[in-house]
Amino acid sequence: MSQTAPSSASAIPSVDRLLRVDAASRLINAYGRAAVLDSIRTVLASLRRQVADDDTPDTSEAAILDRTAKVLAALMAPSLKPVFNLTGTVLHTNLGRAPLPDEAIAAMTAAAGASNVEYDLAKGRRGDRDDHLESWIKRLTGAEAATIVNNNAAAVLLLLNSLARRKEVIVSRGELIEIGGAFRIPDIMSRAGCRLREVGTTNRTHPKDFAEAISERSALLMKVHASNYSIEGFTTAVPEKTLAALAHKHDLPFVVDLGAGMLVNMERFGLPHEPTPGESIADGADLVTFSGDKLLGGPQCGIIVGRADLIDRIKKNPMKRAMRVDKVTIAALEAVLRLYADPERLVERLPTLRLLARDPSDIDALARRLQPFVAQWLGEGVDVKVAPCQSQIGSGSLPVNRLPSSALMLKPFSKSKTGGAALRRLVTTFRSLQTPVIGRVHDGTLLLDLRCLEDEAGFLAQLDGLNIS
Ligand SMILES: *Cc1c(COP(=O)(O)O)cnc(C)c1O
Repeated sequence: MSQTAPSSASAIPSVDRLLRVDAASRLINAYGRAAVLDSIRTVLASLRRQVADDDTPDTSEAAILDRTAKVLAALMAPSLKPVFNLTGTVLHTNLGRAPLPDEAIAAMTAAAGASNVEYDLAKGRRGDRDDHLESWIKRLTGAEAATIVNNNAAAVLLLLNSLARRKEVIVSRGELIEIGGAFRIPDIMSRAGCRLREVGTTNRTHPKDFAEAISERSALLMKVHASNYSIEGFTTAVPEKTLAALAHKHDLPFVVDLGAGMLVNMERFGLPHEPTPGESIADGADLVTFSGDKLLGGPQCGIIVGRADLIDRIKKNPMKRAMRVDKVTIAALEAVLRLYADPERLVERLPTLRLLARDPSDIDALARRLQPFVAQWLGEGVDVKVAPCQSQIGSGSLPVNRLPSSALMLKPFSKSKTGGAALRRLVTTFRSLQTPVIGRVHDGTLLLDLRCLEDEAGFLAQLDGLNIS
């Protein structure tokens, strides 16, 4: 700003004059007249404040329109955008959990306009939105019926409110879990209008604890999958089969909140076992709830499967209407469930599974390819090494299992003992890229776990100044 124009309130050009400048026409072409007008007014107001404060801002037309362009660019930039999830947590709730397969993305686009979401094309009359999904879910879980809501928290709330309002739900003290984001079993119970009847102790619960708690006030026996922690050592939990038999002896339903709910046995992909809804149903559970965007690898939703008469009661609850999923979610889930029909190719086609089952030597090779480019981009100030690391599944799945992976370990050379400021700058640099790169800070370094990096070219392309020959 060497050529500062005279700064007084009277030197500030009028909106009309600014709108006649070529640069303004270009902005109007890009953003529309209303947004440009609004942004010019914002900039002029800020200039007047600066002048009133005895500041001497550049009030030339060019400078004002330059500021306007920046205001508009910030206003029009999408807030929700893609990121590179290099945290090492594959299903990261803050980063959108499961990345969707191409088949789901195509289905979402196709359903975005008018679609038969609640219209029966065969009969030419009103349909049920669950119909698009129910037969797939029944097939994949062995359940009699299914219904879908917005997320698994909603599924649990709706189930409890439909079947246990003003009654007691019996749960082991070892399963009174809290999931990130304020989902706590005791709170959900009270919001659903149920009384929690906790039995047993934190580490040990026996069949007789449940048996002694059953009374005419009981509505359900419930098991909650302890998804984000594990209790080890001197522990006992009552198996699902035993709980189901006990519940049925007293004519009560037995329900399971599974959380992650993978639909196939993960061991066939070399991964640790995760309980499936099908297993709970086979063990005698009357209802099972699970998430669509955890291990299942689909869109955010909650799935309730089980006995047809109970699903029917749940669907009649007016709260169901407040929790229903939209057509785009249905389209995505249907496409994902269709992939499960071909388990042989599932690991190639479903991103969540592909990332979880990724060969550690592939990840290591990727790290070695990227290391020199990232080192060149960051320059002298940062040490860039390839280091082994441990990824985790995330979203409460398999909390104790870690998957061997490789990371770029970035450590700023710094005069200060901890290098805290330099490390924070490094983290911000990656987070400020066009497609932000989110890593994990560990022990004075920034770790970029490469397990979830599939778009290698896209990652490199935004390290500008790199001369990739
Ligand atoms: C994740 C989880 C929930 C909540 O599911 P959302 O899909 O996040 O709403 C509930 N119960 C268990 C056991 C979970 O793991």
